[in-house]
Amino acid sequence: DACCTGPLPVLGRDVTVPLVTGGEVSYAALDYAASAPALQRVWDDVAAYAPYYGSVHRGAGYLSQLSTDLFEQSRATVAEFLGCREDDQVVFTRSTTDSLNLLAQVVPADCQVFVFETEHHASLLPWRDAQVTYLNAPRTPAQAVDTLERALADRDPHGPALVCVTGASNVTGELWPVRELAAAAHAHGARIVLDAAQLAPHHPVSVEELDVDWVAFSGHKLYAPFGSGVLAGRADWLQAAEPYLAGGGASRTVARRADGGVDVEWHTTAARHEAGSPNVIGVYSIASACKALTEAGFDTLVAREQHLIDTVRAGLAEVPEVRVLSLFGDDAPRVGVISFVVDGWNSSHFAAALSAEYGIGVRDGLFCAHPLVRTLLGSDAQDPGECGAPEPAAPGERSLNAIRVSFGAGTPDEHVERFVGAV
Ligand code: PMP
Repeated sequence: DACCTGPLPVLGRDVTVPLVTGGEVSYAALDYAASAPALQRVWDDVAAYAPYYGSVHRGAGYLSQLSTDLFEQSRATVAEFLGCREDDQVVFTRSTTDSLNLLAQVVPADCQVFVFETEHHASLLPWRDAQVTYLNAPRTPAQAVDTLERALADRDPHGPALVCVTGASNVTGELWPVRELAAAAHAHGARIVLDAAQLAPHHPVSVEELDVDWVAFSGHKLYAPFGSGVLAGRADWLQAAEPYLAGGGASRTVARRADGGVDVEWHTTAARHEAGSPNVIGVYSIASACKALTEAGFDTLVAREQHLIDTVRAGLAEVPEVRVLSLFGDDAPRVGVISFVVDGWNSSHFAAALSAEYGIGVRDGLFCAHPLVRTLLGSDAQDPGECGAPEPAAPGERSLNAIRVSFGAGTPDEHVERFVGAV
């Protein structure tokens, strides 16, 4: 089995779905970029721990102590997985979106923020209007660095600045030149946060080697269940700011004042931004996924994924009506996330047909990266929205949104072969 699925089995291998043409077929989950299936190993670890879980940082009972230990060990596991510096803090959040909103809340008030228009909305939108400069889509990695350098050179060099950049695009799968962008940011006295939502599941990420100041990712894209995420990096801005959420766990002491109000002393650890009872199972499962990925080895995982990428790209290249979306061109290194349009087809209809006729789950739309997809498709591109009412595309017309196929650990050859055959 491992030879055609890779070294890390995922859940869902036995799920079958009905076809409109009759009968059933095993479900081909090819929407990893939205949410990856959980690793079998993560599920097993969680099942083994579930009978023992208890509240963390609060209880005197044995299971609370055990859970607190596992929670804090998980923090250390994530720090190691991300190659953090010794002084970095790992804050557990709900997701990448939550992590970047947290960072947006702690940046100094006079911070200038620089974001490429090509980012996912989670990186594009959390910043206050007055402080953000949107950078035009580059067409090569070198142009990305050049664009950033020019923008930073023009800024007021005295105030704080932050660059927010994705490591791997959730639309094209293309890798961004993170190390070079970090060097450019630092050369101009700016800091940089890496949106690793799509990078961390596919490639090793080292905060120290890439020299980024923060990194954010989501558990549910890293083969763990929903509901937990990470923001890791420099402690200073995190600890200088008010807590993201006010409440128990974030406060060290609270006392009534003589004037009737309350004085609060907030923690100066990651707990400052983790008020309320944390998602212990979610955090534990992220740590389990980090360990599983590390043990399987990214060399093996990347080689296996490259084989799947090559199969899909070669298959799509044989269909003349298909156009694969790309900013940086065919030779750009990429992860297993590929978006395309098919001439004469409405993408929503196409994706629906893949599901109904072949049992293949992909995604259609603008992928929460509207400016990027509009750059790639044309300014009239439209998101079909949650209700999914697709624009009818007449035969021969250009599609107004795109189809995305994405995969990774545990994807069998048969799923990508079925996809290519179906297209
Ligand atoms: N950044 C990127 C690059 C993403 O692909 C996504 C999810 N599609 C996010 C951020 C947001 O992740 P989440 O929905 O888990 O907050």
